[in-house]
Amino acid sequence: MTLTEKILARAAGKSGVQAGENVWVNADILMTHDVCGPGTIGVFKREFGPQARVWDPDKVVIIPDHYIFTADSKSNRNVDILRDFVREQSLPYFYDVIDKPSGRWVFDSSKGMLKRQYGSNYAGVCHTALPQKGHTRPGEILFGTDSHTCMAGAFNEFATGIGNTDAGFVMGTGKLLLKVPETMHFHLEGKLQKGVMAKDVILHCIGEIGFDGATYRAMQFDGPGVAGLSMDDRMTIANMAIEAGGKNGIFEFDAQTQAFVDHRCKLNGTKSAYEPVEPDKSQKFVCELVVDLTKLEPTVACHPDPGRRALAKALGHIKLDRAYIGSCTGGKTGDFLDFARVLLGKRVVIDTFGVPATPEIVHDLQTARWGDKTVWEILVDAGVQMTENASCAACLGGPVDTFGRMNTPLKCISATNRNFPGRMGHKESQVFLASPATVAASALTGRITDPRELLS
Ligand code: SF4
Repeated sequence: MTLTEKILARAAGKSGVQAGENVWVNADILMTHDVCGPGTIGVFKREFGPQARVWDPDKVVIIPDHYIFTADSKSNRNVDILRDFVREQSLPYFYDVIDKPSGRWVFDSSKGMLKRQYGSNYAGVCHTALPQKGHTRPGEILFGTDSHTCMAGAFNEFATGIGNTDAGFVMGTGKLLLKVPETMHFHLEGKLQKGVMAKDVILHCIGEIGFDGATYRAMQFDGPGVAGLSMDDRMTIANMAIEAGGKNGIFEFDAQTQAFVDHRCKLNGTKSAYEPVEPDKSQKFVCELVVDLTKLEPTVACHPDPGRRALAKALGHIKLDRAYIGSCTGGKTGDFLDFARVLLGKRVVIDTFGVPATPEIVHDLQTARWGDKTVWEILVDAGVQMTENASCAACLGGPVDTFGRMNTPLKCISATNRNFPGRMGHKESQVFLASPATVAASALTGRITDPRELLS
């Protein structure tokens, strides 16, 4: 069996499963956020009754993150609904934007968009917060009401996005009926060269198979090349499995996975026991692709879909209006460090926005020092508009006052994960997906630029 089949078999209480088989599996974690949480709660109450209790309070994780730092009252109301539900159900894992359970978040105009407007429990973007807060464990099943839930496959678990109806059912029963996906094999060899990042790996893979090339399939990443990828790198790659239509993305378990997970579970006092899955020698794949990391070059997914692959060096004629770094995919500490390495001592020539995925990443950047400056200061000195308000921000467009949102038809190079029309705001805007290094290089020149041109 493949890694995905092994996890699903175990969660179904069976000795084995085959691709195409339908199985009932037990969920280890159900995550929801402010966009889909109210709908999920509505389904749960409608189907299980107004007095119903969730199947296991320790397994429900609620992370407001999408439309948070906005004056839009409907968006604010969504977070209020989550807060009321958490209180009613006594859920321990709620990462609220305010500290006072009986309070309401209100935009503080004296702080504006750049200064912190959240309390001590706030965790930021759900997919980055889940591992940081100790909710991702090898061998487990994670369901989330968000398509990029597949990011947690970096930790050798089966993680996938589900709709509100399924999530309402999981909330009441802890179970879900799943069709076992076929597995596509991505065998990684070699080592990434300077200026080439994990984002280039996944943009290359999606370019090979197209934006629907993995529809309802597992994307398994393994091979000797994985050892050279950090956990941040693996998260970037697993995150974008859905951009090829994948059901999930999954990595092998190794010492790096173990060190990360053990540390995070201990730090947060979450469940520390888990059982990883190892690949079988006899595993069967629907197709196999060997990716030589050494040969990859900075890659871009052009407007209007993540499968429109081109090399950055061939796109120098495309002039840009904006650059953006942020999101679960591209707003992690490692992403910002690579971004800052390219910008160090230089100045951007187009509007450039930086949105760390979580408050912990804000803290990392404000405490890491390169010489006499913090990384945060280096980015601000380079002209990047950095906000402390970690969230999804303009990755999903959001309300019109969202930080970095494209309210006019601009061309933007972005470290985010999705570029369908209208994704980051205006429906006639264009988004080019790239690595943080390529976004930084392009911000310095105002046109799509291979970062190797600027890295000495
Ligand atoms: S940062 Fe973007 S991709 Fe990630 S959860 Fe938020 S909206 Fe979705």
